[in-house]
Amino acid sequence: MARFTLPRDLYHGKGALEALKSFTGKKAMICVGGGSMKRFGFLDRAVEYLKEAGMEVELFEGIEPDPSVETVMKGAAAMRDFEPDWIVAIGGGSPIDAAKAMWVFYEHPDKTFEDIKTPFTMPKLRNKAIFVAIPSTSGTASEVTAFSVITDYSSGIKYPLADFEITPDIAVLDTDIPLTMPPKLTAHTGMDALTHALEAYVATARSDFSDALALKAIGDIFDSLLDSYHGDKEARGKMHIAQCLAGMAFSNALLGIAHSLAHKTGAVFHIPHGCCNAILLPSVIQYNSRVCMNRYAAVARYLGLPGGTDKQLTDSLVKAICALNKELGIEQTYQANGVSEELFKENAEAIAHNAVLDPCTLANPRPIDDEAMLKVLTCAYYGKPVTF
Ligand code: NDP
Ligand code: MN
Repeated sequence: MARFTLPRDLYHGKGALEALKSFTGKKAMICVGGGSMKRFGFLDRAVEYLKEAGMEVELFEGIEPDPSVETVMKGAAAMRDFEPDWIVAIGGGSPIDAAKAMWVFYEHPDKTFEDIKTPFTMPKLRNKAIFVAIPSTSGTASEVTAFSVITDYSSGIKYPLADFEITPDIAVLDTDIPLTMPPKLTAHTGMDALTHALEAYVATARSDFSDALALKAIGDIFDSLLDSYHGDKEARGKMHIAQCLAGMAFSNALLGIAHSLAHKTGAVFHIPHGCCNAILLPSVIQYNSRVCMNRYAAVARYLGLPGGTDKQLTDSLVKAICALNKELGIEQTYQANGVSEELFKENAEAIAHNAVLDPCTLANPRPIDDEAMLKVLTCAYYGKPVTF
């Protein structure tokens, strides 16, 4: 038996934020990042709409990119003081992820971060509040996923918390909100979304449901990411939906070792999550192709890439990803992204070891040990092809 879980409601399109006006409740706590949502007026509008719906509103502001365990605990304490029956997270993956984890400790003050680290062991939620997510970037799809990525800065490790309990109840995809993203953020988050779809399409927990969503997402991302990066509004809107389709796929199919390595390199090398994925994706496809070349070939065929054999088609897919990265201004290797050889060598073994232990590794189509992980990482560092 397998399970496929999504939010119950999705509001989407231009101006979808107005959906907040129709919610019924008493108290809403809005969780938000460092200031972009305030600066562009979306936060004020969210507050206004919730007040129009008759709710008392309190803000938890200043959630940092790659949120920490400490921020989560602070937010949970604020929620315990205010006692909201709605949690509304607005912003990029960081504030949405942090709010999800706050929700767990709001409903279960007796739990510790240790208690919920093991995937799919979370206690029941929704006794105190329901959860609305409003994404402002087009990448993580945290608004529809069962994941929350929280960083333990004492060990430098990013933990992907996972459980269908933290899948939001409602997602609001207002295509006006990502319009304010600067180009680099558009590029990084877009490559994150492409990695979600490609990893989901070959993951061990994939299904017919996730395959359909992943393939459509891959096609739409290849069609629209570059135009979106160059500021085309329609393409920006299409990316917002495509990243969500990718999220629906990977939330259920799970991911793979691009994410295992992105989680562990991001924290140590201080490279944005989507950029790590963009660097890793070609090497990971080459490694995995030993066991699922036909799947990558199917993607390449769907995209209309050249090649007769599965090997040629898979090579075309890798080439197309590298070309896309180049056009998006993303350097293809860790080395070219400014990670010194010294820093790399100092940390590579520990990163590889921790990446093997990352929950995403379990869903990767080809098993991997510390030694092979180190080799994949090294290839991604220098930009050498993975040939084993
Ligand atoms: P973040 O939420 O970290 O935001 C990055 C930056 O972008 C912030 O400075 C933020 O500013 C700014 N920003 C956000 N939206 C806009 C906008 N519309 N206009 C202008 N600036 C904006 O970025 P991501 O969405 O990439 O999230 C990354 C995090 O999500 C990582 O921790 C990653 O590990 C995690 N993740 C979670 C997944 C999941 O399933 N839950 C899946 C994949 C990744 P400000 O703070 O001022 O708002
Ligand atoms: Mn991701």
